[in-house]
Amino acid sequence: MSDPRDYKLDLSSAKSPEASESQSSEGKRPYISVRFACCGVYQRIYRSADGMRYEGHCPKCAKPVRFKVGPGGTDARFFVVE
Ligand SMILES: [Zn+2]
Repeated sequence: MSDPRDYKLDLSSAKSPEASESQSSEGKRPYISVRFACCGVYQRIYRSADGMRYEGHCPKCAKPVRFKVGPGGTDARFFVVE
C-alpha cells in the first residue's frame, strides 16, 4: 500500500457509522498525521492495537507522543507536537 498523501488533511465526511471505530480489517488501521515541530517532520501515527490511543514517536529524535481516543475528543486528523 503506497498512499502518497503523506499529511493531507482528510476533511471529507467519509464516516460511516458502523465502520468508524471498528477494527474489523487488519492492516487498515486508522491513523493521524502529526507534525513534529521539534524536527520539522511529518509522521503518521497509527492507532494502538487496543484502539484506545494513538502512539508513536518522532522519526528523527524519537520523542514520544500519545493521543487518547475517547468520547468528547476531537475528530481532527492532523496534529502538531511542539
Ligand atoms: Zn523530533
